[in-house]
Amino acid sequence: MATMADKADYYEVLGVPRTASAKEIAAAYRKKAIKYHPDSNPGDENATQKFKEAAEAYEVLSDPDKRARYDRYGHAGVEGAATQFHDVEDILDAFGDMFGGSLFGDFFGGGRRGRRAHRGRDIGCQVTLDLEEAARGATKTIEFERSRACSACGGSGAAPGSSRETCRRCGGHGQVVQAAGILRVQTTCPTCRGAGSVVAHPCSSCRGSGFVAGRIKREIHIPAGVDNGVRLRLAGEGEPSPDGGPPGDCYCVIQVREHPLFHRDGNHLVLQLPIAYSQAALGATIPVPTLDGPDSLSLPAGTQSGEVFRLRRRGMPDPHGGARGDLLVQTFIEVPKKLHPAQESLLRQLAELERAEVTPQRRSFLDKLRDYFSPSSDETREDDS
Ligand SMILES: [Zn+2]
Ligand SMILES: [Zn+2]
Repeated sequence: MATMADKADYYEVLGVPRTASAKEIAAAYRKKAIKYHPDSNPGDENATQKFKEAAEAYEVLSDPDKRARYDRYGHAGVEGAATQFHDVEDILDAFGDMFGGSLFGDFFGGGRRGRRAHRGRDIGCQVTLDLEEAARGATKTIEFERSRACSACGGSGAAPGSSRETCRRCGGHGQVVQAAGILRVQTTCPTCRGAGSVVAHPCSSCRGSGFVAGRIKREIHIPAGVDNGVRLRLAGEGEPSPDGGPPGDCYCVIQVREHPLFHRDGNHLVLQLPIAYSQAALGATIPVPTLDGPDSLSLPAGTQSGEVFRLRRRGMPDPHGGARGDLLVQTFIEVPKKLHPAQESLLRQLAELERAEVTPQRRSFLDKLRDYFSPSSDETREDDS
């Protein structure tokens, strides 16, 4: 939240001098509102912020009492009295009709005067894939719950034989105007919730809402390379609007099942490959599975346990069109738990040889071990003192 100290000066926000007349302030606000209106700056957060700031500034400076307090005490003078607009729709509700409906109307498709339709709610669903499907991409049929228009009343909410009646409170405008000083604040009619009409005899199937629960089946295409937890947006597949506006969206969450062999690491796949000591020591060509089918890997003589071999471009495709990942094969040496007599006899011969010839890592370890158990003379002296 912005603190008082870093709040911009309301006059500066509107770009008017402190002596500006009410008319000049209104004209300045109209200019700013049109410039930063969300309809002309789609997706621009900065413009939306400016649009909100201008509305807040105008709300204070257009009210003589609030303006006087602001002139005298600054932001502290109107703390709590100034409306901080969080939602662009609130601004349109409050000021959309200020200039006889022409504030936005001239510029934005006939204006938002009167009934303003709401977008339907967003909903979610889930789809589960195998790693192979995630790698290739897949077409899946998904099912999810979504309201649909009630067939008994055709979505009107009125019992068959009756019809919706014009709301008496707002006269069908869907908006009511409340006067506060010279400021007229327009809000959504609380009786009809902006619909402009009410149901006198509610439909029994939908209890007057016009909607009943429904189940939807959709085929969706899942792009190759999707990862666990990714959300796919199905535009317009959410809840219908309660008042004739656009429907919401449905977000489908992808779940990828654990694979028995491959673990995903970004776009790379990791495979743990068990090998025998003799294969590691002598080198070997070992069959390895890949998502594209069987392949083989040549291990050089002297392969260590834990060593990683990279099969380029055998991992997951990049969902954003980048390079395909690699398959990383990590070896580990599996020591047999039971030996045949022939194996044991050979290993005992090997052990004899290994006593005679010590490998570098073991030699270094043995050196450290010897130092550890027979400390240097310095340390011995220290211990004695
Ligand atoms: Zn109905
Ligand atoms: Zn009404």
